[in-house]
Amino acid sequence: MPEYRSALVTGGSRGIGAAIATRLAADGIRVALTYNASRTAADRVVEEITEAGGHALALHADSADADQIRAAADATGREYGKIDILVNNAGIGMGGPIEEMPIEHFDRTMAVNVRGPFAAAQAVLPHMPDHGRIINIGSVFADRTPFGTLSAYVTSKAAVAGLTRALARDLGGRGITVNNIQPGPISTDLTSADSHVRDVMTEATALRRFGTPEEIAGLVAYLAGPEASYITGATITADGGYAV
Ligand code: NDP
Repeated sequence: MPEYRSALVTGGSRGIGAAIATRLAADGIRVALTYNASRTAADRVVEEITEAGGHALALHADSADADQIRAAADATGREYGKIDILVNNAGIGMGGPIEEMPIEHFDRTMAVNVRGPFAAAQAVLPHMPDHGRIINIGSVFADRTPFGTLSAYVTSKAAVAGLTRALARDLGGRGITVNNIQPGPISTDLTSADSHVRDVMTEATALRRFGTPEEIAGLVAYLAGPEASYITGATITADGGYAV
């Protein structure tokens, strides 16, 4: 078994996922990141990690497609010899009033945000040594839903919290920990560009600001590290006090 650690980060081309991949690589972990639409951005993240002396590769895998996820996990296993850490970060936020939301938007949200993490966990397990780590990125909206139009997204992120608890039970016997990070408002492409919504969200945090992708990446690094060895099945919120 190689001495180094390796990680698969889904949705690592932009936003929080790119920050997670960059942080794990800076910690000496070899990283594979998946992307769906943003190949150029994914290649740029790999380039920056490589220039900084790290190891990274980008793989195309639509998180809604279990076969593509399995192919990405197998490719990561072949390249690095194992997968110590899985970060289920890829996510979409399709919103809309319940009266008007096409059922296909609900299905797509669940496919990417819930089925994707389930499929990714299944796909990495043959490559994951005992004492591996699975870290899901949920959302504080699962606990506090601030306004309407979020039914599909909130349902998916509540499911991620449940999946986390169930997988912690499934995999505890192998010493594999499974945890769920629930970010609050973080500045990324996903966050509404609508300045009114931004102002409302900012005011709702105790810290009166959006968080940065790097602040979530730091928590991922902690959960992936040796000091977090007795944390499993947990949902940990990093929301600037949004839900207090
Ligand atoms: P962004 O929209 O900035 O980035 C999303 C990332 O996920 C991109 O790398 C994108 O890749 C990838 N992605 C989207 N769909 C797919 C797919 N079908 N298959 C593979 N990859 C995909 O979002 P954030 O960085 O803000 O969000 C990351 C995670 O954090 C999500 O799970 C989100 O729900 C969660 N979150 C974010 C919050 C925030 O305020 N930003 C708050 C709470 C939770 P590509 O462009 O290549 O398709």
